[in-house]
Amino acid sequence: MLHSIEPMAFIAPEMLRAVAKCPHCGTECAMSDGVVGLLHYRFENELRYSLVWVCQPLCILGFEHAQFMGHA
Ligand SMILES: [Zn+2]
Repeated sequence: MLHSIEPMAFIAPEMLRAVAKCPHCGTECAMSDGVVGLLHYRFENELRYSLVWVCQPLCILGFEHAQFMGHA
């Protein structure tokens, strides 16, 4: 169970200022400005889940695999 989507709860302090590219929309911003969620995604045709950083809360909804958003 996640209790936060704040990057500082999951990402090492020295990494928070690093710039990352959102896997959903492609926006680049500091990791401290984004959010972290436990998301499902497809990798090499295999469904996986892990903590994923995205640039904003709406991108969590976009990146999460449809099967886990009630669209199976
Ligand atoms: Zn994004």
